[in-house]
Amino acid sequence: NSPPVKVLVTGGAGFIGSALVRHLIDTTHARVTVVDKLTYAANLDSLAPVSASPRYTFIREDICNAPAMRDIFLAERPDYVLHLAAETHVDRSISGSQQFIQTNINGTYNLLEAARALQAERSGDLRSRFRFLHVSTDEVYGSLGPDGLFSETTAYDPSSPYSASKAASDHLAKAWHRTYGLPVIVSNCSNNYGPYHFPEKLIPLIILNALEGQRLPVYGDGSNIRDWLHVEDHARALWRIATTGRPGETYNVGGLNERTNLQVVHTICDLLDELRPANRPRRELIEFVSDRPGHDQRYAIDAAKLQTELGWKAEETFDTGIRKTVEWYIDHPEWWGPLRKSVYSGDRLGLLAAS
Ligand code: NAD
Repeated sequence: NSPPVKVLVTGGAGFIGSALVRHLIDTTHARVTVVDKLTYAANLDSLAPVSASPRYTFIREDICNAPAMRDIFLAERPDYVLHLAAETHVDRSISGSQQFIQTNINGTYNLLEAARALQAERSGDLRSRFRFLHVSTDEVYGSLGPDGLFSETTAYDPSSPYSASKAASDHLAKAWHRTYGLPVIVSNCSNNYGPYHFPEKLIPLIILNALEGQRLPVYGDGSNIRDWLHVEDHARALWRIATTGRPGETYNVGGLNERTNLQVVHTICDLLDELRPANRPRRELIEFVSDRPGHDQRYAIDAAKLQTELGWKAEETFDTGIRKTVEWYIDHPEWWGPLRKSVYSGDRLGLLAAS
């Protein structure tokens, strides 16, 4: 009997990280250690479904703390590192970019160096099949015109401080593979949605405002297009890539679910009208607000490499996934209620784009 696989997940208390940890505890025998600083975006309640598992450990730490990262890597000796910790909200990166540079660039650098220290210690350990998956976004590719899809070879052309910081970290990750032979893989994914999504992002914000009869602010004319992927499909993709992807490679992750922001808002309004009928149609709550600076027009992902090489396929379409998501928010006010009250007023403008 070989010892259980050890997985270290950074940012595991965030939206995608917590979906990944729930997936790993539910569907594998892996031991999972989460490293998370617990910023405003984190929520330990999202890990409540797994917190009693003996295979789950939580460490509160900042990835910007280089000695701490090295100590954790050397003590935990993970077989897989899945690096998701990041500052992620584009609008926050526009109003204050410093923390994005710190966490997304310097933090990633610290983890790559910690991984190198671990590799140096364990060379000769034949059991080990170390992999470092750097989790990134399609926003590094910039904006598409009306046609075409982002592929793994699309040139980087980031527009926002967020996407520029992620682009920089992707370059570091790839360079650490080329220069030091670290078995790094990079994944670039389209916009995620699903349960446990912090209510400053477009989909949960619109669901909760619409549920409470508040206005539904939409940037510009709502024509910006995003390619939506259910977070649980992303979690499955990440584990597939970490365990079967080739070091040094990039894999794009997406579900071919392009929607304009306005279509997304209409779909949510119509679902809520069906599931929780109100006096007047929710679409009447929509209000167009001035656009975000540097707002990318369209993102869309070609995930053919991931599908053909690694056999992954999205299980949810946008229609099935958004219905489940709206139902989840209706059923879980205990999760989002405190967040709405303490961090966030649903009436606040300026935090309304799709990412
Ligand atoms: P999130 O904002 O919900 O969670 C980020 C997590 O990282 C939080 O738990 C936070 O506490 C933690 N964190 C932040 N700074 C940290 C630090 N200095 N040290 C330790 N932990 C820290 O983000 P998310 O939406 O779950 O995204 C996770 C990753 O996936 C990010 O790298 C993001 O760029 C990438 N991504 C996100 C999307 C999306 O649609 N949400 C799409 C593609 C890629």
